[in-house]
Amino acid sequence: MSLKPNAKVVLEVKDLRTHFRTDAGIVKAVDGVSFTLHEGETLGIVGESGSGKSVTNLSIMRLIPSPPGKVVGGEALFEGVDILQLSEKQMREIRGNKISMIFQDPMTSLNPFLKISTQMVETIRLHEKDVSKEEALKRSIEMLKLVGIPSAEKRIQSYPHQFSGGMRQRVMIAMALSCNAQVLVADEPTTALDVTIQAQILELINNLSSKMGTAVILITHDLGVVAGMCDQVCVMYAGRIVEKAGTDDLYARPSHPYTEGLIKSVPRMDTKQKGNRLFSIEGQPPNVIDLPPCCPFHPRCNKAMDVCRSAYPPVKDLGSGHEVACWLYADEAAKKAALAEAQTKEKAE
Ligand code: ADP
Ligand code: MG
Repeated sequence: MSLKPNAKVVLEVKDLRTHFRTDAGIVKAVDGVSFTLHEGETLGIVGESGSGKSVTNLSIMRLIPSPPGKVVGGEALFEGVDILQLSEKQMREIRGNKISMIFQDPMTSLNPFLKISTQMVETIRLHEKDVSKEEALKRSIEMLKLVGIPSAEKRIQSYPHQFSGGMRQRVMIAMALSCNAQVLVADEPTTALDVTIQAQILELINNLSSKMGTAVILITHDLGVVAGMCDQVCVMYAGRIVEKAGTDDLYARPSHPYTEGLIKSVPRMDTKQKGNRLFSIEGQPPNVIDLPPCCPFHPRCNKAMDVCRSAYPPVKDLGSGHEVACWLYADEAAKKAALAEAQTKEKAE
């Protein structure tokens, strides 16, 4: 698997910034996130809990609770239009239609009191007003078959609680794709499921996206999931992307010490790990309130230098779309200049 730079761009996120105003201060949950998603591509967003993955997704979907949250900067170009600037009415045409979402717990997005048939038919007819009920029901049954629900004609008349967790997630995927979405955002879609079912659901998303050309943003804390699924990976830490690369490239050349740590902490089948404890990155991610200008990973990094404590690292392009934000890759002059600037500021204060 590799990047698909020649495919059409469907979504381009540029310097996205989303902050929350809290009693303790301003939470910079997302602080300068950029990525490009191509047709038929699966992009993974990986990072520990609290790194800003869900806020990135909710910002693009325009679902940030305001107050306390606000998208304070950036663009999200979908088919060339900045969806962050659309009215709520215009956004409703896109959300759940051209850009669909699935979440960790499908129960929260399904209505427990309505049959699956009613919910699927309504979803389709909400976005395509000229489709008849019969036609929408037919299409819904086809979608359930496509996602592997046995006896779909009968099962469509069930209520959400009559499905297992894995089957409910299949229903959600069917609903998300029944509107021919161009982008599917899956936020930890399998975290609540057991391992075998997880693998089945991920394979299903993979197959459907290649069959229908749907671009997928897959949000996960599990780098192991990314390896089998994604063309491209963004590694997030404290609201920023610290490394971005084609999946194969990321595994072959992990360049940020945080990425290296994440990769080392994924259990592997092909190496003997008996008796060896799995590596884990020591320490906790920082609080994203009032972070000083520095590499937010430096307190946990065994390669940290003075400059890492004084200034945010510039983004370095390592070639073939592989980018890393780490001082290890900056040239000496840039490091010296950043240190000097930090010292001047310190004196002035
Ligand atoms: P994750 O990577 O686990 O999905 P999130 O995107 O959910 O992380 O959260 C990123 C940061 O934003 C966290 O520090 C979280 O506490 C903060 N955050 C998210 N939602 C809110 C909110 N409604 N109010 C204040 N802070 C929030
Ligand atoms: Mg999340």
